[in-house]
Amino acid sequence: MHELSIAVAAISQIEEAAERHGADRVAVVRLRIGELSGVVPEALRFSFGIAAEATRLAGARLEIETVEGRARCPVCGREAPTGVPPALWCAPCGAARDVLSGRELEIARVELDDTPVSEDAGASDATGATGVTGATRKVNPADLTRKANHVPHR
Ligand SMILES: [Zn+2]
Repeated sequence: MHELSIAVAAISQIEEAAERHGADRVAVVRLRIGELSGVVPEALRFSFGIAAEATRLAGARLEIETVEGRARCPVCGREAPTGVPPALWCAPCGAARDVLSGRELEIARVELDDTPVSEDAGASDATGATGVTGATRKVNPADLTRKANHVPHR
């Protein structure tokens, strides 16, 4: 399944980033998925849930942001949604339109969970009054990898 390999790739990138930031858990992951990427959001969500088990992303909230496919005609300059499946020809001109958006497959946002992992959440140590419980930390997706934040895509 296409979505499973995408989920596995995204999870390994995010796990690596969480490890580098010293976080044992990831609270929120937001993926940006173009409607022309061929990814079925519900299949991705399902695959993510399975692939995240036994990783730092287990139980993380997955948000999926869909990006509309848009294209522009290089001849007349008209910009319009491509639709799905995409219509890539400009009807009046007969020219091939350039796709502007809709192929995204990116990690848009990651929040790390800095809550100390504890068997017994109620009985932590004496510094319980500091209000740091449940703190999350936002990670700039640009920091996720030295490479781009694009998920490998077949
Ligand atoms: Zn045109």
